Amino acid sequence: EEGEDEEETSPTKKLGTDHSKKVATHYNALQEVGLAARSQSRIFYMRNFNNWLKSVLIGEILEQVRGAGSRNVSVLDLGCGKGGDLLKWRRGGIGHIVCADIAEVSVDQCRTRYEEMKRKSYSNDKIFSAQFITADCAKEVLSEKLEDPKLMFDICSCQFVYHYSFESEQKADMMLRNACERLKPGGFFIGTTPDAYELVKRIEASDSLSFGNEVFNVSFQSKGSYPLFGCQYHFSLEGVVDVPEFLVYFPLFEHMAKQYNMRLVLKQRFSEFFEEKVKKDQHRSLMMKMMALEPFPCEDGGQQASDNTEEYCHAKEH
Ligand code: SAM
Repeated sequence: EEGEDEEETSPTKKLGTDHSKKVATHYNALQEVGLAARSQSRIFYMRNFNNWLKSVLIGEILEQVRGAGSRNVSVLDLGCGKGGDLLKWRRGGIGHIVCADIAEVSVDQCRTRYEEMKRKSYSNDKIFSAQFITADCAKEVLSEKLEDPKLMFDICSCQFVYHYSFESEQKADMMLRNACERLKPGGFFIGTTPDAYELVKRIEASDSLSFGNEVFNVSFQSKGSYPLFGCQYHFSLEGVVDVPEFLVYFPLFEHMAKQYNMRLVLKQRFSEFFEEKVKKDQHRSLMMKMMALEPFPCEDGGQQASDNTEEYCHAKEH
């Protein structure tokens, strides 16, 4: 399918012939074509909801890290995309960020967004320092690419990304290694990923090999049996995402994380998170702001079907 010629000329060359190349090519192309206005409006509220959720998660984890005494907070954004979370980190007053992604066009855009943010900031409003890395984080060891080889992170954030690594045990492990090996003891690994139970439940209930609505579609090649790794499905979200993804069997993910000295502290479905935060009146004002008619400035991330997703947080043991 992916011939030699394409390998030679593609900006994503050296990425190999597996699904990671398809994913990188897909996300690289997104930047070139931009988001069609039509798609933007159809998934507008979902994108804002996802951004609200990530903002709250990031805000809460920063509070915890600071509460534990960390001052100059350092963050690894694993699968940063175009930098949709940069503003969240800025609002959170972090000291340093490393942004890594397999799609080099996205990384370039992330860097540009950061430079722009820096240019516009007032002199007394010191913006965090940053490093940008293009790498297949399911294959390459990120710590070898750090400008500061001694750098340790307070937080690794992996938003709507980890499921791409579940193509094989080796890849899932490498992604996890990158997420956890440079975390300080007491540091956190936070993220969002599709809920495999929900996906399997829905495909089993479907009388075909797919389910969805006029906006999104999930299709499997077969059903009835779901391997622990490499259980591929195709996710498409109108005009924005159209890629192969893999089920993440959460108990296995949790078990694998333990090998990196990580303990699961929280796992919730988006709906549970929403109920807990908004219905208890917490974070309601931010939600209202993000649901306002204008897109939230500089927010651009996580285009998933929100009712199929869950978020998690692992802490590194002391
Ligand atoms: N985290 C960003 C956000 O929330 O806006 C982007 C999420 S986007 C749905 C998924 C991102 O994962 C894409 O930017 C894609 O290039 C990246 N990605 C997928 N596989 C990856 C890998 N093996 N290594 C690094 N990045 C990867």
